[in-house]
Amino acid sequence: MSDQTQTDQTQTGQTQAEHRTAIVTGAARGIGAAVAKRLAADGLQVAVLDLDESACAAVVSEIEQAGGKALAVGVDVSDEAGVQAAVERVAAELGAPTVLINNAGIIRDNMLFKMTVDDWDAVMGVHLRGSFLMARACQKHMVDAKWGRIVNLSSTSALGNRGQANYSAAKAGLQGFTKTLAIELGRFGVTANAIAPGFIATDMTKATAERMGITFEQFLEGAAKEIPVGRVGLPEDIAATAAFLVREDAGFVSGQVIYVAGGPKA
Ligand code: NAP
Repeated sequence: MSDQTQTDQTQTGQTQAEHRTAIVTGAARGIGAAVAKRLAADGLQVAVLDLDESACAAVVSEIEQAGGKALAVGVDVSDEAGVQAAVERVAAELGAPTVLINNAGIIRDNMLFKMTVDDWDAVMGVHLRGSFLMARACQKHMVDAKWGRIVNLSSTSALGNRGQANYSAAKAGLQGFTKTLAIELGRFGVTANAIAPGFIATDMTKATAERMGITFEQFLEGAAKEIPVGRVGLPEDIAATAAFLVREDAGFVSGQVIYVAGGPKA
């Protein structure tokens, strides 16, 4: 059995290949941090990427203290040369990245008539250009390994959301991007899927509450009332879905958008 096909029983009781290396972008906090920790618990080596390398230290140290292997890398995912250098560094110091979670994200919400070109470009730059650059840089390693998993973070906002013309367009764009990657890369053993979270309690939703002039607690309470399962989502809910999509035995799930929103719609 080769390294690539060897499997191991992991902390969560699933089979997962040894020696796989995952990159999670925007992983210093929020959903990305939860995904990084979950993948490490499942036996993957994890590169924790974020704008500020020092901000990744806490997640890396938590993974290492739990017996896992992780690497902090500072990079702006919208910077072409920076992305190339970051992916090469991960390959050299941790292993060929054959799992990619495109999670880094920002919001610049405003009603259309007040939205600036900078608001539009910044959101497109991180979500769409960033996911494209990361996927393009990692695909070579996946194709070489004849195995790979790409997971892109979309959102229920892809279905339309007031004040988010830029963000909803980017998140809908990511769904088309995902399906095209699935079509192009499937023959190389690479799957591509998108997770579209609903309301998840993170700094991003905290910032929205601040902008609305209400407390985070009021925002959470109001949101939970609208969600069929009666609660808002946690970063760990998204991590569990990502963990499934990157599993060895999820190889026939590709080109899908999984809404993780506590109910059938946003
Ligand atoms: P978050 O708490 O704001 O974390 C986002 C992370 O991405 C931050 O660590 C941020 O770094 C990093 N980042 C931003 N721009 C970057 C860039 N250019 N290069 C590298 N890293 C960058 O957000 P979250 O709530 O965890 O969301 C994670 C993903 O899920 C995003 O794609 C978001 O759109 C999506 N999502 C979230 C929700 C939700 O309810 N929270 C719902 C649907 C989808 P800094 O701290 O330095 O800014």
